[in-house]
Amino acid sequence: SNFSLEGRTYVVMGVANKRSIAWGIAQSLNKAGARLIFTYAAERFEKSVRDLAATLEGPESLFYECDVTNDEAIIQTFENIQKDVGVVHGLAHCIAFANRDELKGEYLNTSRDGFLTAHNISSYSLTAVARAVQPIMSEGGGIVTLTYLGGEKVVENYNVMGVAKASLDASVRYLANDLGKHAIRVNAISAGPLRTLSAKGVGDFNKIHQVIEERAPLRRPITQEEVGDTAYFLMSDLSRGVTGEIIHVDSGFSTVAY
Ligand code: NAD
Repeated sequence: SNFSLEGRTYVVMGVANKRSIAWGIAQSLNKAGARLIFTYAAERFEKSVRDLAATLEGPESLFYECDVTNDEAIIQTFENIQKDVGVVHGLAHCIAFANRDELKGEYLNTSRDGFLTAHNISSYSLTAVARAVQPIMSEGGGIVTLTYLGGEKVVENYNVMGVAKASLDASVRYLANDLGKHAIRVNAISAGPLRTLSAKGVGDFNKIHQVIEERAPLRRPITQEEVGDTAYFLMSDLSRGVTGEIIHVDSGFSTVAY
């Protein structure tokens, strides 16, 4: 049926630990029967990623190191994936970074270096990765990235990461337009706050959680599994008419003014 991902292969980029959104996505895809390919930023993440993947049932996973600041590494990674598996049917890009000292205080103080770093890793990487994976998504499929409300509205402390997310959101639309002719869809999930390694870098992150519980229509935070299942939808044929879209998995918070 449309629901099964059996016989399909998906690339999941950005598992650092069990709290990573990428791990939620990996679990949802795995439950649907997909084979998984994990990429991680640096050797120090390899054991953690392999240990997590070992808890999955079903097809054996594959693992590649891929630092997305390095064009050669990206090209090499996807050449290796092509050699090892041939075709892939989707990709989850769950990668972001900004200097911690610029995720607090005023956006006004963002340095040139900090601005470029945040945009390089958190936004440009999607474009570079999309270009590299396109030739091996020869049967079409779905690319999904992770964004946040701070790219649409001001969220205190999110600062340069918000500006990078706005750039990422626009990239989703341009990439969707470029890749549509290859039957490749590109969408983003705008996730509500989750307590991950990256989120710890954002100043006063606990305060945001409290606001969600008070004001979001569902009056509760979201879970990693909820993001995973939406990614599964966006990477399956169920969403075959959806591209260039940003879906909020945020208990409805983005719809409320105050
Ligand atoms: P996380 O820290 O678990 O994941 C971030 C990942 O980015 C890590 O695996 C890290 O290794 C990777 N990364 C950083 N620099 C890299 C590089 N140069 N090359 C390759 N990988 C690199 O945190 P997360 O919250 O799961 O973040 C995943 C995505 O979700 C990010 O884009 C984040 O902005 C987004 N997001 C998170 C939240 C939240 O509340 N946690 C909300 C909305 C969106």
